[in-house]
Parts: sequence; C-alpha cells; structure tokens
Amino acid sequence: MSRSAHPAGPRHADVLPEGHYAGPPADLNHLDAKVWARTVQRGQDGQITVGGLSVGQLAEQVGTPAYIVDEADFRARCRAWVEAFGSDADVFYAGKAFLSRAVVRWLHEEGLNLDVCSGGELATALSAGMPAERIAFHGNNKSEDEIRRAVEVGVGRIVLDSFQEIVRVAHIAQSLGKRQRVQIRVTVGVEAHTHEFIATAHEDQKFGIALAGGQAAEAVRRALRLDGLELIGIHSHIGSQIFDMAGFEVSARRVVQLLAEVRDEHGIELPEIDLGGGLGIAYTSADDPREPHHIAKALNEIVSRECEAAGLATPRISVEPGRAIVGPTAFTLYQVGTVKPLEGLRTYVSVDGGMSDNIRTALYDAEYSVSLASRTSEAEPMLSRVVGKHCESGDIVVRDAFLPADIAPGDLLAVPATGAYCRSMANNYNHALRPPVVAVRDGEARVIVRRETEEDLLRLDVG
Ligand SMILES: *Cc1c(COP(=O)(O)O)cnc(C)c1O
Repeated sequence: MSRSAHPAGPRHADVLPEGHYAGPPADLNHLDAKVWARTVQRGQDGQITVGGLSVGQLAEQVGTPAYIVDEADFRARCRAWVEAFGSDADVFYAGKAFLSRAVVRWLHEEGLNLDVCSGGELATALSAGMPAERIAFHGNNKSEDEIRRAVEVGVGRIVLDSFQEIVRVAHIAQSLGKRQRVQIRVTVGVEAHTHEFIATAHEDQKFGIALAGGQAAEAVRRALRLDGLELIGIHSHIGSQIFDMAGFEVSARRVVQLLAEVRDEHGIELPEIDLGGGLGIAYTSADDPREPHHIAKALNEIVSRECEAAGLATPRISVEPGRAIVGPTAFTLYQVGTVKPLEGLRTYVSVDGGMSDNIRTALYDAEYSVSLASRTSEAEPMLSRVVGKHCESGDIVVRDAFLPADIAPGDLLAVPATGAYCRSMANNYNHALRPPVVAVRDGEARVIVRRETEEDLLRLDVG
C-alpha cells in the first residue's frame, strides 16, 4: 500500500510490476483455484457456482451487485490458522477486514479471537456473543469512551499505541477499579509490502512507538509503573499483503531484543508477543501466498531461535490475519450495463457498482481479476477495463482484464478475492446503496448484511 494514486489515473509503467502485462490467458473460461473461494466451480450450464448455487440463482434472489461469501471456505481457513498455530499461540482475526455478526459467530465457533479498532467494531463483536476476554482493542487514537467501554466489558487486551494512551488507559482502568491487560505496539523499523520489505531505523508513520532511540523501552518503563495496567507483551504489525517471511524475521528479532532488554532492566520476562497480520493472498494468478502451516512453522522457528539466543523462555505468540482469512472467501457479483469499445485502446465494461463497493483499485492501484460468470464463451479475448457507475474516471474495478469479445449488457461478472477491505470500506458515494453480503453454504444463500435501501439513506438525512 505504498503507492499513491495519480489523480489523473496511473499510467501502467508507473504502477504495474514488470512482466505484468502477460497477454490473455489460454482459456478465459478457466477459474484459477488460487483466486477463487474453495467451493467455486463452473456448473454444467457454464455458470459459476458457489456452495452449490449458481450466480444466476444468486442474482435472482439477492440482486446485484452483491458480495458472495463461501461460508465453508471461511470456516476452513479459520480452522487452518488455528490448527497451524496450535494451542501455544492465539489467532486473532482482524475485524477491520470484514466484520458482521455472522462472521463473529463463525470466528467464535472456530476458536478464533478477534481484533477490533473502534467502538463500532467492539459493539458488533459483543452483540454477536464474542466473549470480551477474546477481544483485543487496537487503534492509534482510541477515544476515552472507547477505552472506558473496552475496560468495562473486560476485553482481553488493549494494544497501547502512544505515550498518552499509556496514561489514559491506566487512568480509566484505575478509576473503574480494574487492572487492564495491555500490550505495547512498537514499530520495529520494518516496512513490508508484497514481495519486498525495507528495514530502516525509523518508520515514518502514525502507528506504534519506535524501538529506535529507546522509545519503546521507555514506554515499557512507564507502563510497568502504573497500577491500572498489566503489561503482558509487545506487539508489532509490519504491513499488508506480504508474501515474504523475511520482514517478520527482522521484526521478531527486534521484538525479542526488546524482551531481553526488559528482562535485563526490570527482571521480568514479558509472556507474549504479537507479530500482527498482513499475510498476502492471491488477487490474480501472479500471486503466490503461503499456507498457514508454513507461516506458523516459520514464525515459531524464528521466535524460538531468537529467544534461545537471548536466553529467554519462548513467549506465547499471537498473529492477526484479516485479509488472509476473509479475502479469498468472497467474490463480488456485478451485472454489465454498458459496453464501450474504444478503438485501438480497450473496451470499457461498466458494471452496476464500482468504487462504492470496492475502493481498493482507486485507493491503492490494487489489482483484481474478473470472469464472465453467467455463461462461458468461445469468443476472442478482448482487452477490457471493468469500471463502475460513479462520477469519477478513477472509478475502476479491474484495470486490465481480458473478457470475451461477446460480452454484453445483462451478463454477470464476478470479481474474486473481494472478501477483505471491500464491504468494510464501502461508501455511499453518489448515494450508492451499499451491497449486501450473502453467505452461501450447502446450496443455501443467507443474507448476513442486507442491501442498503433509499430509506436507510434518508433516515440519516434529518432535513
Ligand atoms: C490491519 C491489521 C491487521 C490485519 O492485516 P491484514 O493485512 O488484513 O492481515 C492485523 N493487525 C493490525 C494491528 C492491523 O492494523
């Protein structure tokens, strides 16, 4: 997420990795298992199906655009993470990727914990029965009300993000007669994005307290002095859409180094470290994400090795995958409205959603793939750009796509890997109505977040 979009729209050479422009795939009808939810396939009639339901049936039942979640896949990914890390570690799902009450129940049932970073996320988690002790509260500027609520309900941990917050949380906990379990979020001087990481001394960003210059050690000192706080560990989150474990290696080493300093200075070994989330998923066939068991093995090895070298007992590890759990489990289903061939350039295919349901392309130049979902086609591949219906030329869903040349209004398109940071970042630009989230499982579709209505919009507009 290091790139910033050019206001006039990015030029390819600026933003796309070399070798990206690979030309059309051999078979436009093929669905690459890497980017699609597990139960997705093409049915006999050529339609994409998920959980045994065809996109035609889904469009009829819930309309378009809609986010379609493969519940079995979501649960399977939860289990894979929990099993990979075992009983000596904790998996926290990062709720900001996508949160709803059904999701909270799935997480609870599958044995995960939950990260929240706002009062709204906390309210959603509690209202669906997530035990407070399994919730971690994050954020770089939690309000006093948010902190008070979190302490009152008894969240398992608050992740402290600044010197002010150390005092603020301690004060609130004490005034409530409580001792709040906390971690301190540190910045380790590692910035990781996709296939690269940069190790630096300082990080120029708003989160956490720097290890550099003894800042984090000072934060520990202050937290240990305050009666309202029980300092249980150190937290580090290094980036997003990361494929390479090398950034985690540097981060774990630096966090363990701090644990050793804390032991030397205070004579205590903090019992936990949290290595954050940020694990990458496949948005297109070019991405090669690691499996949870591989990630768990690598992280456990790094932490044990570093702790052994420092003469520390291995702390309890936690991780916070968001995207890696929910991202691949959903696709967005759209209907084509217009098709506009631009001679010598490309064909613009407009769908009934856009930057209101997926802002990531406009915001980060995110890459997606897309498939004709309501049928197969033997037509020639046609260089296309899938765009939305909003009043911005940057309203792009898929920048470069090959679609069959016979694509026509009424066709359904599916954009895979939209489970994370799409519905959760959805907005009402142009007074768009945010699409529903529909969970499919064993041949049944269940709306878990309904479509917004004009009534919903007008309810907030009090005149
Ligand atoms: C965003 C975030 C995550 C989750 O990131 P993903 O890329 O979705 O895995 C985890 N922990 C913290 C502190 C975060 O801010």
